[in-house]
Amino acid sequence: MLSIRDLQQEAEELAPRLVEWRRDFHMHPELGFTEVRTGGIVARHLQDLGLEVTTGVGKTGVVAVVEPESLPDDAPVVLLRFDMDALPILEMNDVPYASQNAGVMHACGHDGHTAIGMGVAQLLSKHRNELPGRVKLVFQPAEEGLGGARAMVADGVMNAPTPAASFGLHLWSQLPLGTVVVQAGPLWAAADIVNVTVHGLSGHGAMPHETIDATLVAAQIVVAWQSIVARSVDPAQAAVITVGKFHSGTASNVISGKAELSCSIRSLSVEMRDLIVRRMDEVAGGVCAAFGARHELELIKGVPVTQNSVEGAALMRAVVGEVLGNNAAIQIPPMMVGEDMSEFLNRAPGCFVLVGASDPAGPLHAAHHNDHFDFDERMLPTGVALLAGAALSWLNQQHTGRV
Ligand SMILES: [Zn+2]
Ligand SMILES: [Zn+2]
Repeated sequence: MLSIRDLQQEAEELAPRLVEWRRDFHMHPELGFTEVRTGGIVARHLQDLGLEVTTGVGKTGVVAVVEPESLPDDAPVVLLRFDMDALPILEMNDVPYASQNAGVMHACGHDGHTAIGMGVAQLLSKHRNELPGRVKLVFQPAEEGLGGARAMVADGVMNAPTPAASFGLHLWSQLPLGTVVVQAGPLWAAADIVNVTVHGLSGHGAMPHETIDATLVAAQIVVAWQSIVARSVDPAQAAVITVGKFHSGTASNVISGKAELSCSIRSLSVEMRDLIVRRMDEVAGGVCAAFGARHELELIKGVPVTQNSVEGAALMRAVVGEVLGNNAAIQIPPMMVGEDMSEFLNRAPGCFVLVGASDPAGPLHAAHHNDHFDFDERMLPTGVALLAGAALSWLNQQHTGRV
């Protein structure tokens, strides 16, 4: 019977190919929804493995299902997700595989994720007749704030066949090789946008008494909002309100009649998100009333909380134990980063893990989204073994549960 150990050994043998693939993707990064070259290479690889491939899912996404030659229609289905997009950053690394697409860079490690996905596809299709179910491989575009997961869901990625569980990973340069963050409950945050427009009354810069200065009102609102996390949020819980944009006025001698604030809201539950938005609205309304101004608030929902199920985390912990040993799985306080793997986890509960990708004694420690970001490629076979292992282990669990 196929074991996680077998998969791990084969993943290690695949290491040189994984590095080759990753470096090729790194040299040719593509922004969200334009992953035509990347998706094309993935699709060709999957076809060469004998898989039936669907392209154009969520614009540039690629999907294939690995399954044995004969299997009942209602056999269990598990989804594995790999994101493919790069960021609008000018790479500053001086390495032979540096970006050849100036101003675009794989600064989050999605080049590694795509290479891992190609490796997982190779191992699982080699052993397809030993799988007690189906593995849906999802290569996702546009993770970096552009809604690639949602676009794939809208294009039916969760149908025909419908997965009952999903697993994914993010390589993480701030974690040492050989460690994996596995935890039930929230790992990463929901990220939403709140836009507030303050309407005052514009006028001459020398006649303030005949105006309602939108700049002054909006400035008071920004200051008053700082009390929300400090005084409306339970101190044992996490929340962030970042006023990232503040636009008001047109000239030095004109008092502004309109100010626009754009804010990033991070929370670990829908209740917290709703509390923050309600308090932002109340505070803005109260300040505006005091100055004779008025406001409008718009909530643009972004990615939901990235949450792992208890069962998914337990399964993943066992897989990590087999691949890296019993002390490898660690827990961290949730981070306020957003990640649209949450769209899959919300529909097919499972587990998303962070895989250590730097050598504490090595040089590669730059943070994600930094122009010097890079990672230790020795994590690539580990990533392959973890996700191929999670799929196998979940399918085996369903199979045993049925007998
Ligand atoms: Zn990122
Ligand atoms: Zn990322």
